[in-house]
Amino acid sequence: MVRSLSTSSIMACERFKDFVVGKTFLIETDHKSLVPIFTTKDLNDLTPRLQRYRMRILEFSLAKIALNQKLEPTLQNVAFYSKNGWPAKCQLSPLECSFYDVRDEIGEGNGLLMRGRRVIIPSNMRKDVLNRIHAGHQGITKCRARAKDHVWWPGIGQEIQDIVKTCEKCIENQPLKHEPLIPNDFPERPWQKVGMDLFHYEGSEYLVVVHYFSRFIGVVRLTKLSSEAVVDHCKAIFARHGIPDIVISDNGPQFRPSTTSAFTKFASEVGFRHITYSPKHPQSNCQAEAAVKM
Ligand SMILES: [Zn+2]
Repeated sequence: MVRSLSTSSIMACERFKDFVVGKTFLIETDHKSLVPIFTTKDLNDLTPRLQRYRMRILEFSLAKIALNQKLEPTLQNVAFYSKNGWPAKCQLSPLECSFYDVRDEIGEGNGLLMRGRRVIIPSNMRKDVLNRIHAGHQGITKCRARAKDHVWWPGIGQEIQDIVKTCEKCIENQPLKHEPLIPNDFPERPWQKVGMDLFHYEGSEYLVVVHYFSRFIGVVRLTKLSSEAVVDHCKAIFARHGIPDIVISDNGPQFRPSTTSAFTKFASEVGFRHITYSPKHPQSNCQAEAAVKM
């Protein structure tokens, strides 16, 4: 079914080539299986047969580019220079000048003006191509890689950078390079800031509590590794020394903040601020971690 429908769509395009090349045209179909041929971004996601259909349709896009290249005076001249030799840079128009530095890479292939293996996109199609490069909001590196293999025009790198830099979705998708560090300023008064960590020693689990002001280290053996067990020991320690303002710990299961966590409930009940840090950045809780290493 897909075969007959796609074949008929493509045959129609080819039959009416003279009328559709260079135009944006609409193929209407009520057959859903046909849609991926046109909407799947990666050609490799299609079966070989569907890939062939896509390539036949793609010829119309390339034909459209070729046509627009021929209609643009700057590109006409660039094509002429690439065949017949370039004049001195000072004789070129400012637009032509932007091709001068890469002139050795410019040439014609399959009726298209190319820079190396990248098709030179005529100016009236750049916006559309830029949007396609940016589709999926993959950030600057992936957008550039996408363009690098296929398309080029003067200033494309800057245009990609501009569109990505101001795009909220691209910024959101950006992998976090640095988790924020919590500065470890020296506390102003006793028992203001306390670091906690768990460690395993000779078959037993321990909770270490480090007092940032005096560098006092307290160690208690845990009979259970639950958040509740940690809370029980904290209650005893806090009863002796007072309630700290801030408790710093790693993001381990006993400390991980959540509405159901015993430690989170304990923090809000007795009124201290609980800060967790990523184990990737142990320097945030260097005192408790250093104590564990001792
Ligand atoms: Zn984006």
